[in-house]
Amino acid sequence: MEKCTFYDIGSKKANAYIIYENKRVIAFLDIHPAAVGHTLVIPKNHYEKLSDIPSTTAQSLMTAIHTVVRHYRTKGIQNFNVLHASGRDAQQSVPHCHFHIVPRKRNDGLNLWYRSVKQKPQNFKRTEKKLRFR
Ligand SMILES: [Zn+2]
Repeated sequence: MEKCTFYDIGSKKANAYIIYENKRVIAFLDIHPAAVGHTLVIPKNHYEKLSDIPSTTAQSLMTAIHTVVRHYRTKGIQNFNVLHASGRDAQQSVPHCHFHIVPRKRNDGLNLWYRSVKQKPQNFKRTEKKLRFR
């Protein structure tokens, strides 16, 4: 493994503004926030993509995200996006699996959503056939 800042944060070799942690997961403030309270939730062990992570750690990540957003609700953060990218082609910037929690406010000027692509019905059928669990 090359030097990984997120791993260093998870193992306390690097400082961060830590919001929450448990045995497997740590949540800290993004140093390049899209909004005040922008939080990253990561596994403490190094995994690049969500698809690399054992299911127990994946469950811990989702539980931690849920714990943080429930906590943030008590702090007045009612609206938020949860964002994730796995892989360079998906715009993953740091190659250590992470989820963003971005607090949102009405008219905050952020647009974190996508535009849908047009697809013909036969394309959906083909895609379902390819991707469906058998
Ligand atoms: Zn890492």
